[in-house]
Amino acid sequence: MTESMIDATMAALAKEPALHGIHLTGGEATLDWKRLLYAIRSARRHDVAIDYLETNASWCADERTAHEGFLRLREAGLPAVLISVSLMSNEFIPLARVQTAIRAATEVFDHRGVTIWTPEVFHRMQMCLEPDRTHSIEESSKRLGFDYRGGELWHWHSYLIPAGRAVEQLAEGLPRHAAESFEGDACRRTLENTIHFHIDPFGNLSTSHCLGISVANVGNLHPTIDADRRPVYCQLAEGGPVWLWRGLADDFVPDPRGYVSKCHLCLELRKHLHATGRYDELRPDEYYRE
Ligand code: SF4
Repeated sequence: MTESMIDATMAALAKEPALHGIHLTGGEATLDWKRLLYAIRSARRHDVAIDYLETNASWCADERTAHEGFLRLREAGLPAVLISVSLMSNEFIPLARVQTAIRAATEVFDHRGVTIWTPEVFHRMQMCLEPDRTHSIEESSKRLGFDYRGGELWHWHSYLIPAGRAVEQLAEGLPRHAAESFEGDACRRTLENTIHFHIDPFGNLSTSHCLGISVANVGNLHPTIDADRRPVYCQLAEGGPVWLWRGLADDFVPDPRGYVSKCHLCLELRKHLHATGRYDELRPDEYYRE
């Protein structure tokens, strides 16, 4: 997000009476410290409460770096952090960095300001993995006593939602269902759920876990949604991805292997529709790049 977009976002959120707090996330927000500190200060300036920053601890190479980093964040106004740890992130980030992050963050924010996501996974990883190196999912799951292709990876990381990149990267071995089997599974409640939402670097708002579908932005967080202007959203809200397929994408050929979830089918349909260039509610474009 540019600094002006950060300010526009905070200004828009400041006008939301029902908003309790926000979290800052990425990708990995610490990839750009200057911008991250700007965002924290902007939230304070606009009186928008920050709940926490999500980080994968990749930057916590040693105690001093970690301590100083968390101190800078706290001094800018950050009250808490969520440190994520998973077999997926351990493919790139050694456990030692997570351990360093947890120690340093606890010194700076106190234990009340540090959430490990998730403690059960972290605990078992500490028992079975080498802290100073990364492990492929194949290797780490083997060390933990399961085959990652059998669906147990999802059981382990029970917060994973079978949508987006997760179904593209982690669907091996999961049961699949014919596209038609999702008939009648409408998405209105999910799409209208604003308890958890995300705003992307361009100011587009996506509700719930439905990333890549945006009918609101920081310029107008409460648009009138009609089927003429937002056909994809309305088809999904009314009847789910099968309605979207029948209504807007009858040339879509479903994968004969089936889909692990309705959101998996939805993603493939949306990629198909995005390629036509006709639906600007399918944004940002970056989401749909292979
Ligand atoms: S099918 Fe699509 S619109 Fe429905 S909940 Fe899943 S991602 Fe959201």
